[in-house]
Amino acid sequence: MSKPHHYQGLVERYRNRLPVDDSTPVISLCEGDTPLIRLNNLPKEFGLDVEMYVKFDGTNPTSSFKDRGMAMAVTKAAEKGAKAIVCASTGNTSAAAAAYAARAGMTAFVLIPEGKIPMGKLAQAIAHGAVVLQIRGNFDDGMRLVKEVADEAPVEIVNSVNPYRLQGQKTAALEIVEALGKAPDYHCIPVGNAGNISAYWIGYSEAAGRNTQSCTLCNGNCPYLDNPLTDSRPVMVGYQAAGAAPFMRNKPVENPETLATAIRIGNPQSWELAKAAVEESDGWFDEVTDEELLHTQSLLATKEGVFCEPASAVSVCGAIRDIKSGKIKAGSVVTCTVTGHGLKDTATAIAGKEHVETIDAELDSVKSAILQHV
Ligand SMILES: *Cc1c(COP(=O)(O)O)cnc(C)c1O
Repeated sequence: MSKPHHYQGLVERYRNRLPVDDSTPVISLCEGDTPLIRLNNLPKEFGLDVEMYVKFDGTNPTSSFKDRGMAMAVTKAAEKGAKAIVCASTGNTSAAAAAYAARAGMTAFVLIPEGKIPMGKLAQAIAHGAVVLQIRGNFDDGMRLVKEVADEAPVEIVNSVNPYRLQGQKTAALEIVEALGKAPDYHCIPVGNAGNISAYWIGYSEAAGRNTQSCTLCNGNCPYLDNPLTDSRPVMVGYQAAGAAPFMRNKPVENPETLATAIRIGNPQSWELAKAAVEESDGWFDEVTDEELLHTQSLLATKEGVFCEPASAVSVCGAIRDIKSGKIKAGSVVTCTVTGHGLKDTATAIAGKEHVETIDAELDSVKSAILQHV
């Protein structure tokens, strides 16, 4: 008999680095432990002299990185005896909240912007039994309402303003440092509500035994610095969609617009934390157009076998541009978070593409179709 090695999810895996104790009822779907995939073909095709990886968090149980934060947030809600959770969402938070609430025996209330979330994500919220409240407004309106209602009704907010979300999400950075045996030189990541970039910076800082202003839980006194895994931290680079790029405008964007619906956010809740992450790491923010990010989404799928949603492609899209320009230095190790799976939003992925050839059910037809392509 071999020793069992059933992975139990990130709360168990990082128990000594998370705010839980023996009596905490862990709510898990075995999230985390996602692949760090080295890109081979794109760097070769573009002549990029870097070692480039994607952290494919679209392989989590509900197919986005939101599961990391939700595992911690719902675990802590369960510890408090909460019966219900609430979130505003561009889709993926609602999918994760719905699944983890189901697991915990809680009710999930999710506020989504009317008509602006892809069917895959909506299907997840419905399938897991969440109460779906579609609002006549955008994500930022939903976020405001959720914060107001949590003061007046018995529900726990599980948006990333909940500090436990960031604690769960920091584990992605720990996994990367463990996989590489060191911190990358640059970490590139999509930015919407700005929780994830803040969480990675908390994780990378902790891995290097350093405090950061981005951590809201410990206020500059991290309890997990005794066990450093490495001695350096990466430069943090946050990319936004051009139509929803408040960090580039240096102020909230009133009516954010982008096909990358997961980051269609004009007033990021973790503004200060994300800013601190970029400043402390000597990093930067930048933006990519919808056309550019869709092109990169397609390149990742067709050249590397990684099918991600549009918002997820902005990290790789921006990284390729900054490597080409030399802003990201040659010879570096570059990691990019790929936040969600392409199956979330199939409509956008195949729009405008000639995808299917219809042929007769005969050998000759199949053979000539093959010969046309090889
Ligand atoms: C939530 C989300 C983002 C943005 O993360 P923030 O923490 O809001 O900045 C990016 N991509 C996908 C797929 C997401 O679901």
